[in-house]
Amino acid sequence: MINLILFGPPGSGKGTQAVKLAEEFNLYHISTGDLFRNEISNETPLGLEAKKYMSKGELVPDEVTIGMLSNKLDEQAGKVNGFIFDGFPRTEPQADALDKLLDLKDTSVSLVLALEVGEDEITERILDRAKKSENPRADDLDEAIIRNRFQVYLKQTSPVAEHYKKADKLVTIVGIGSINEIFEKLKDAVNEIK
Ligand code: ADP
Repeated sequence: MINLILFGPPGSGKGTQAVKLAEEFNLYHISTGDLFRNEISNETPLGLEAKKYMSKGELVPDEVTIGMLSNKLDEQAGKVNGFIFDGFPRTEPQADALDKLLDLKDTSVSLVLALEVGEDEITERILDRAKKSENPRADDLDEAIIRNRFQVYLKQTSPVAEHYKKADKLVTIVGIGSINEIFEKLKDAVNEIK
């Protein structure tokens, strides 16, 4: 199995690149943000809980997120060639939980691809994405919420890179350039471990 993590700040292009990498390497794409938005549109109890945090640009509590991710892994295990995680893990407890969950399935994280993009570029991109979308995400419409998401990333998520650096699994890629240029760089990094 190949299990990839796409790491990086909100709006760094994780979702776009995850879809392309999933297709290229035949992996199952798991976006925790998409899973939460799906729960919200179905008005499930999990969705209602998640919405309280997402609308402010805060992280959904670990136990909720890890539980949802674990269910998804169980549902797909045995059916797929590997996973690409987009937006997970975002905290140290989530990274520990992922190691354990994959270990239970006799597999592990193969590589972490970290996209680097600065705050001003991020804010501009997300506001632009909202403007161009027919159905913009509520958390993309307000600059203060976007900046909070970036701060949450710096404080809670960016330290998680160390977890994978220690394990020699971290590759950093500059996330500025065309979608295809960045995709080529990501693809090369994955091909190196194959
Ligand atoms: P972005 O990367 O643009 O912020 P996502 O779709 O990945 O978009 O996430 C949107 C929101 O969903 C986050 O701000 C957070 O509230 C919630 N979320 C997504 N993934 C996680 C996670 N792993 N842990 C906690 N909250 C999460």
